[in-house]
Amino acid sequence: MRDINETSATLALGDLTITSLSDGHLQIPSDYFLNTQPHEREAVTPTTRIGANTWLIETKNRNVLVDAGSGSCLKERFPETGRLNWQDPDLELKRSTITDIVITHMHADHIGGLSANGNSLFPNAEIHIQAREWAFWTDPQLLSSAEDPQKPMIGLIQALAEPLKNQLTQHSGDVDLGNGIGLLLAQGHTPGHQVVHLASGREDCLLLADAVVSDKLQFSNPDITYALDSNPGDAVRTRRTLFDKIASDRITFGATHVNTTAFATLTRREKGYAFEPL
Ligand SMILES: [Zn+2]
Repeated sequence: MRDINETSATLALGDLTITSLSDGHLQIPSDYFLNTQPHEREAVTPTTRIGANTWLIETKNRNVLVDAGSGSCLKERFPETGRLNWQDPDLELKRSTITDIVITHMHADHIGGLSANGNSLFPNAEIHIQAREWAFWTDPQLLSSAEDPQKPMIGLIQALAEPLKNQLTQHSGDVDLGNGIGLLLAQGHTPGHQVVHLASGREDCLLLADAVVSDKLQFSNPDITYALDSNPGDAVRTRRTLFDKIASDRITFGATHVNTTAFATLTRREKGYAFEPL
């Protein structure tokens, strides 16, 4: 069996083992980040590299995957994505052991790796998603009413959603999945974006997904927004709430698009925070 842990970091948290798995990285135009000051823009011009982390949470009797990367669906535009290559036949045994999947939100860089050629790659898994996230992206009206530049992204997401629909458990708001695994609604980046709260033993860990997109910009200035945020105001409020909790309680966290698989914490610094990988 191929080793999927080539680029990974592992955190032991009570009865849980959490492994961050990198799906590669994406090179994003800096002008996707809004509300920036000139000196902030200059630091990341003209493009900025963001990571693409996913996670595997192992308990005594469950293997929970949090997002699955891009698969092959974004390779044309972002050639360094899809490194996890879940469609590899050598990973079939590993895929069959996944009992649960958390979809943090339905952007293609998070769900592309869950299917290949219209077939689910994790047929044994229960998929956990916020009901409002699923309803928003799969609404037939969304594609027909969208402006032309948005249509390819929406069409891709709807095609990626189709093979997953029979495995879904749809949640409304915060939910306890058992084994110390909780989901927190953290909307703003998308209508039903959720983050993962892990609590086992005496420690907590948060998997922030896209509550932060740029490690170079949004820790030091959480008010910077991202062009793909569906509600920028909510995205900022969610980011500030989560950063405040992490810094106040010295919580360990991971985030999808930071440029490291390492877990980290935050300390307050000026108007924002300093990112401190462990
Ligand atoms: Zn993302």
